[in-house]
Amino acid sequence: MSERPAGPASPDAVHPAVRPVAHPAEPALRPETRAVHLPRPAVDGSTPLSTPIYQTSGFAFDDPAVFADGMTRPDGAFVYGRLTNPTVRALEEAVAGLEGGAAALAAGSGMGAINAVLLALLSPGDHLIAQDVLYGGTAAAIAELAGRFGIEVTYVPQDDPDAVRAAVRPRTRLLYLETIANPMTQVADLPGMCAAGREAGLTCVVDNTFASPVLCRPLEHGADVVVHSVTKYLGGHSDVLGGVAVFAEPGLHRKVWDFAIELGATLDPFAAWLTLRGLPTLPLRMARHCENAALLATRLAGHPAVAAVHWPGLPGHPSHALAARLLPAGFGGVFSFDLAGGRAAGDAFMAAVRLARLAPSLGGVETLVLHPATTSHRSLTAAELARAGIGEGTVRVAAGIEHPEDLWADFAQALGRTG
Ligand SMILES: *Cc1c(COP(=O)(O)O)cnc(C)c1O
Repeated sequence: MSERPAGPASPDAVHPAVRPVAHPAEPALRPETRAVHLPRPAVDGSTPLSTPIYQTSGFAFDDPAVFADGMTRPDGAFVYGRLTNPTVRALEEAVAGLEGGAAALAAGSGMGAINAVLLALLSPGDHLIAQDVLYGGTAAAIAELAGRFGIEVTYVPQDDPDAVRAAVRPRTRLLYLETIANPMTQVADLPGMCAAGREAGLTCVVDNTFASPVLCRPLEHGADVVVHSVTKYLGGHSDVLGGVAVFAEPGLHRKVWDFAIELGATLDPFAAWLTLRGLPTLPLRMARHCENAALLATRLAGHPAVAAVHWPGLPGHPSHALAARLLPAGFGGVFSFDLAGGRAAGDAFMAAVRLARLAPSLGGVETLVLHPATTSHRSLTAAELARAGIGEGTVRVAAGIEHPEDLWADFAQALGRTG
């Protein structure tokens, strides 16, 4: 049975072969269920169980009015790949659903999504309030905005709403936070900070990469925009680079979409498909990442070669009480620890691990370790490193989903070579 509309197509009609994404998920469904029953684009009367890869740069039309209308809005007919694509839109709808947002915008990387949001919402002379520990790429992008585009920035602690209130100026537009920061895993006081931002009419943007929507949904805590590096947990298999921004309301999505389609930080349909391929197991993976981090962090904390462990699940972590409130499903899969032997011990540990791989990034199924002082945070001065709490002997761990005892055996033998 064909569902091709009879009579003249209205501008609301879409290309007959590719219909908008259908939403099977009810808002009340739990993340484990939502992640499996993702929206899929329907094709003439049936719906594929796996979203196909629409590897096309554009679409042809019978009706010029439908073509023209599709150019002007994010939810119209599929027209051109830089605007959107059915596979990419399926991912956008999927992540919007998981985060509880109205709409989402996918980008070619996490930084693509972050820059699309910042550049769409800020103009020269505007003021931005950001938390003072930020992902390295974001810190560098904000420094560029400040240095070359006349946007003023004030940095505040991630858990001090009064510092936000004190920093607000007439041209303050945006508050930028991260649910869990890298690599010392400070947790932002999302309800308090977003409330302070809202009082001042700011748009609250939260990078939720480290938590994923399984552990935290910042829109529920007052955020307006959530950004992700899809490269990390959402993708989950170290085979895709991508980003996404999720919006609490359609007007804000539309404003950023209007800019982003000209920016051109578009996600490729194959990257969108790889991400959709990984999403149904996100809740299972997050549970295991968290369990493995818990076992490693706890055992490291009791090891004589280790001076300190930084994971919000440990009672001694400065964010522990906040994390227990904001991350009830798990404290995350990333943590760091300081080796008692400093830089030499850090080098020895990195050289000695066998199972854990020495690599950038996080959120994949394999356990990765890195030495922030010489890699991810190499652009920080010694004073900035110290302010971020990062030592010469700090090691960051992104726990994978291997058997935890195999990981511990590897860590234990590597620790034995640090002394
Ligand atoms: C990796 C990362 C980014 C940047 O994402 P890319 O996909 O590498 O561009 C942004 N924020 C956080 C917290 C990240 O871990």
